Amino acid sequence: MLFFTTGYLGDRTPKGDPKAARLRQMVMEQDWIVADIRDVPWSQAPCWRKAALEQILGGRYVHIPQLGNATKRTGQITIRDMEAGLDRVLAPVRTGSTSYAPLIRDMEAGLDRVLALPRPALLLCCCPNFFDCHREEVARALVKRPGVTNIVEITHWEPMYTAVPIFGGDREGSYA
Ligand SMILES: [Zn+2]
Repeated sequence: MLFFTTGYLGDRTPKGDPKAARLRQMVMEQDWIVADIRDVPWSQAPCWRKAALEQILGGRYVHIPQLGNATKRTGQITIRDMEAGLDRVLAPVRTGSTSYAPLIRDMEAGLDRVLALPRPALLLCCCPNFFDCHREEVARALVKRPGVTNIVEITHWEPMYTAVPIFGGDREGSYA
């Protein structure tokens, strides 16, 4: 089973509304379904809000809040789980690591939803870079699930989309 990931911000994808149209084009060509894993499916740019994506992608869009990064939200302060949060803050001190893992809301329930989708899922976030995004953590968990063989990041969206294998796959092959 093959999965895809991507992020819509940055210079490697078209700007503004044409970018959403390009996403739709890729989704139709590749027979993907977009699994939006943003914690809050909202953007300053109206084309990236949930309602707009539902409209442009029709049945090929689903928001999976379970795979959202609870640490991503801005604009308000809500302590979702103080003790778990403090554990995470202290973990690097305890382990000597300097990186802070994202806090995925409900990884297993979210992966169940992704695996139940009827066609190859494109896990969508806003972050341009896979390795700076919580989709890395989601992908690492997804590839451990039975039957998941390949995870491919779509780095550039145009003129041709560029697929970079993250887990599995032959590096020359077609993923269409
Ligand atoms: Zn992200």
